Amino acid sequence: MLNRTLEWQIATVAAIRTETARTKTFTLSLPAWVRHLPGQHYDLRLTAPDDYQAQRSYSIASEPEREGEIDLTVESLPGGEVSGYLHDVLVPGDRLEVRGPIGGYFVWEVSRGGPLLLVAGGSGVVPLMSMLRHRRAVGSSVPARLLYSSRTPEDVIYADELKSLQEGGDGLEVIHTFTRSQPAGWTGYARRIDPDMLKEIYRPLGGKTQVFICGPTLLVEAAADGLVAAGLAPERIKTERFGPSGGSV
Ligand SMILES: Cc1cc2nc3c(=O)[nH]c(=O)nc-3n(C[C@H](O)[C@H](O)[C@H](O)COP(=O)(O)OP(=O)(O)OC[C@H]3O[C@@H](n4cnc5c(N)ncnc54)[C@H](O)[C@@H]3O)c2cc1C
Repeated sequence: MLNRTLEWQIATVAAIRTETARTKTFTLSLPAWVRHLPGQHYDLRLTAPDDYQAQRSYSIASEPEREGEIDLTVESLPGGEVSGYLHDVLVPGDRLEVRGPIGGYFVWEVSRGGPLLLVAGGSGVVPLMSMLRHRRAVGSSVPARLLYSSRTPEDVIYADELKSLQEGGDGLEVIHTFTRSQPAGWTGYARRIDPDMLKEIYRPLGGKTQVFICGPTLLVEAAADGLVAAGLAPERIKTERFGPSGGSV
């Protein structure tokens, strides 16, 4: 399997779905599909007519139980070379070079147990969504909490699906924090992720909690530091950083 995942293959864009004003989900059909672990990613390579190449990593959003295809959810960044192309140029039926699944550290599946604390900033929710979709697909009731930081309610990716996953009554709780604007009458969190917030969310899950944090670098570091300050052992915390800038979710 290792060698196969390092080989490039030609995926076909089966569907494109708009998630939010800045994010789209691309469903790719893969001729050499390999079952992934939730949390893994694919590399995607674009080649221009003059042979100039650009390569980026994108987390798998879909659950491994879905065979033959994967979903990637991509945020359009201002001036973004690859995300801009995917958002503005790509259409269903187009073909893309990809390789994967890649990564063996930032992964979780039901057999690894819980409780589970997932912390996301912006598009950092993507690999965590693969974990939650997998959890649902296999009927798991491992206690799980997702703390999800977005600028505004309109920026929440997978909003309807997260709501229905939570309403499934199988032990998943989704907690939003909106850092820039909140819905009318909002009584939840309205600030960046901080140690007090983390303490409130992590404490009920207990010291055996496995934590996965994903998003802009600054958010990931703040959340990891806050959880250690709240008493969680560092070896229980796994992190994935999406970008160099730190972002502002
Ligand atoms: C393991 C891994 C998984 C990833 N999964 C996803 C995913 O599921 N969805 C997703 O949208 N992205 C994901 N990313 C980020 C992705 O790989 C690209 O970095 C991102 O799409 C920007 O590429 P670009 O060519 O559009 O922008 P570039 O042309 O490379 O950069 C444009 C501008 O944006 C800044 N920038 C670059 N990356 C980021 C970022 N992530 N956040 C904020 N600013 C940035 C640059 O400094 C530059 O100013 C992942 C990254 C890694 C390492």
